[in-house]
Amino acid sequence: MNESLSLGRIAGVRVGLHWSVLVILVLVTVTLARGEFPTAHPGHSAGQYWSLAVLTAIVFLASLLAHELAHAVVARRNGVQVDGITLWMLGGAARLHSEAATPAAELRIAAVGPLTSLLAGGVLAGVAAGLDALHTSGLVVEAVAWLSAINILLAVFNALPAAPLDGGRLLRAYLWHRTGDRLRATRGASAAGRALGWFMVVTGFAAVLFGHHLSGLWPALIGWFLISAATAEVRQAEMRGVLGGVPVSRVMTPDPVTVPDTATLADFLAEGPFGSYRHSAFPVLTADGSVAGLLTVRRVEATPAQARASTKVRDVMLPLGDIVTAAPDEPVLDLLPRLQAGPVRRAVVLDAEHLVGILTLADITRALTWPTAPAAPRGAGPRFPKDA
Ligand SMILES: [Zn+2]
Repeated sequence: MNESLSLGRIAGVRVGLHWSVLVILVLVTVTLARGEFPTAHPGHSAGQYWSLAVLTAIVFLASLLAHELAHAVVARRNGVQVDGITLWMLGGAARLHSEAATPAAELRIAAVGPLTSLLAGGVLAGVAAGLDALHTSGLVVEAVAWLSAINILLAVFNALPAAPLDGGRLLRAYLWHRTGDRLRATRGASAAGRALGWFMVVTGFAAVLFGHHLSGLWPALIGWFLISAATAEVRQAEMRGVLGGVPVSRVMTPDPVTVPDTATLADFLAEGPFGSYRHSAFPVLTADGSVAGLLTVRRVEATPAQARASTKVRDVMLPLGDIVTAAPDEPVLDLLPRLQAGPVRRAVVLDAEHLVGILTLADITRALTWPTAPAAPRGAGPRFPKDA
């Protein structure tokens, strides 16, 4: 999620707002100004309700920020780099650059968020009681009490043991500590996250359908977010688990079918590679055997049929400088981001400038379905940082 408005750095952490945070701001303001405040304390002017509601909504956002800042600061203290914090429609998100190295670090980073919200709730409850004792306007006391309650609610909701909530991280830290298997722990926390997500989706829609409460859409939306985030989390962890330490050479297709750069497209088609090979891209070699580029089926198709007899492969290929290259001993996980960002989603594997293979995203996806074969002989690839 990209931030739309930067708030600069707080405690050394980059803080930004995503435009969708306006949804929270408007929702909270309207709920308070039109509902909570006039119901609890009638007789004030609309201007008083609205201005206090806006102020309360802003303090609410500040308390969300405090929760995320607590995560970020503790993460940094535990050696995890923090990319920044963004507040958005469903709250805040502290973007951690890497994962905690130990279950204990994970536990500390996760627990401090709900504890901060709980502390804020307690302090605000004390302030509300104090203001009430000083006979401050009941409306102001109401606002502070609402902030106290929402922070406590936030602490409780976030502590639910379901990924990607803080409680899900705590559950994962516990399972990880108990089993020593981070991937299994992630799977457990993710399953809990999806279960909670579906529960919220179903009850939310049931409230809309049977109770005619449109507000049920909100838990349904949060539930949907939990399901997708929990699923993405486990998928990423599985990829790290399966591919951790696996070199490119083990996943690539070795000795790929190649095309000479001086061949015409008509020659290339006459050889019949389309029918008999299942590839859609072919490394192009020069006469001395060095790689000149990559010919994709799409580029051949884009050339008019009548021009194919006079067009050479080297005229339509992607030149070497434009394609992703990899070394055979490079970890697949390091190559992945380059592959996803590249123009043709495949890499030519070169060993000292000699072509040794080609690797596609499909090869990596296939590798992910390997049962346990790549996991067994992985002495070289540490699966867990704590073993490293
Ligand atoms: Zn949190």
